[in-house]
Amino acid sequence: MAQQVDLIIHNAAQIATCASAGRPKRGDALKDVGLITGAGVAIHKGIIKGVGPSAEILSRYTAPNLINASGQAIVPGFVDSHTHTVFGGDRVHEFEMRIRGASYMDIMAAGGGIVSTMVHTRQESKNNLIRSASRRLDQMFSLGSTTVEIKTGYGLDTVNELKMLEVIAALDQQHSCRIVPTFLGAHSVPPEFKDKSNGYVDLVIDEMIPAVAEWYQSSHFATENIPFFIDVFCENHAFNVTQTRRILEAGLAAGLRGKIHVDQFNSLGGLDVALDLGLTSTDHLEVTTEAGIERLSRSDTAAVVLPAVNFNLGLTNFAGGRALADAGSIVALGTDMNPGSAPCFSMPLTMAIACRYVRLEPAEALNAATINAAYALGLSNKIGSIEAGKAADLLILRCDDYRNLTYLLGDNKVQTIIKDGQIIG
Ligand SMILES: [Zn+2]
Repeated sequence: MAQQVDLIIHNAAQIATCASAGRPKRGDALKDVGLITGAGVAIHKGIIKGVGPSAEILSRYTAPNLINASGQAIVPGFVDSHTHTVFGGDRVHEFEMRIRGASYMDIMAAGGGIVSTMVHTRQESKNNLIRSASRRLDQMFSLGSTTVEIKTGYGLDTVNELKMLEVIAALDQQHSCRIVPTFLGAHSVPPEFKDKSNGYVDLVIDEMIPAVAEWYQSSHFATENIPFFIDVFCENHAFNVTQTRRILEAGLAAGLRGKIHVDQFNSLGGLDVALDLGLTSTDHLEVTTEAGIERLSRSDTAAVVLPAVNFNLGLTNFAGGRALADAGSIVALGTDMNPGSAPCFSMPLTMAIACRYVRLEPAEALNAATINAAYALGLSNKIGSIEAGKAADLLILRCDDYRNLTYLLGDNKVQTIIKDGQIIG
């Protein structure tokens, strides 16, 4: 007898399951999206019950709600594994400066960049930050991101970093997107600690980390087993290798999981720290050395590539994603959505850039944007693929071949979004 479920999607031209049995994809598996043609999926109480050939799904399950996805491809909801979506103000003025020839580091050294966004973010009320970030999430969600990681890092004092975390928690409760929180108090040294960066590092370690760890324990994220990360920007004009290690060790000791912005403009040695500490992900990697790629590829740390940044900055030294993939790294993608270096809402555009400039194949880009991005957030057992037991987050596309996501540019191929089994848009 057929089992009753809430929803069946049948007759899909193809389902790219990105199935991985909870593991990240690397090597040959990274090129395999687990394609099923003429496929169907059964969903009950927000969870995927079965996926397979359409006829088989229709014989095993029955549902009051049926969607005929004839001529359409289905993929997992995208996981945007690296963003700075909560901020005040904008940086359109710096965008013009850069076009006229100023570099990102010039602007940063002149007090622009992260610090200018910090000033606006400190001034904004919690409600205004929720409103503006929610509008950005609307865009990201409509482009297929069903899970979005969001970092703090524009407060840069204890009160405002906690304010950003409260904004992030409110967004998770109010918005259709699933949100994963990251504490990035070590994003930049705030002006009040100019030339006293070790003093700021002490503040991060002695005051902020205990405060945010306590905040997390009493938040709904802890109750729902959504991980909480610490992140550090290891770079000139930000935090050196010694400071980076101190902050990450303190965060890990307080129970947070670890991420790092590393090797974006200069390879300072932060990657070795990240691998010594077994961080969940290392992000950017534009200037990572061959030895670094080798070491990263032998580890279980995800390599998060953010190609919308250099695309936006007009730079040509994209991360060695091809070399990382060939060496067996767990390559993942994120937009790095932020007001300065990547005002980019779109995972499909990020994937399209990754294919062209990082030379990932369409299948690799899809796995990097789903199951491996979920791994980079410590959630690969819950989201990121269309497999029985996973949260039912999936996208029904306006095309019959998932490769159109990366082949076509500037077009939104997402027709229907299913998040936790609910049909939204
Ligand atoms: Zn970033």
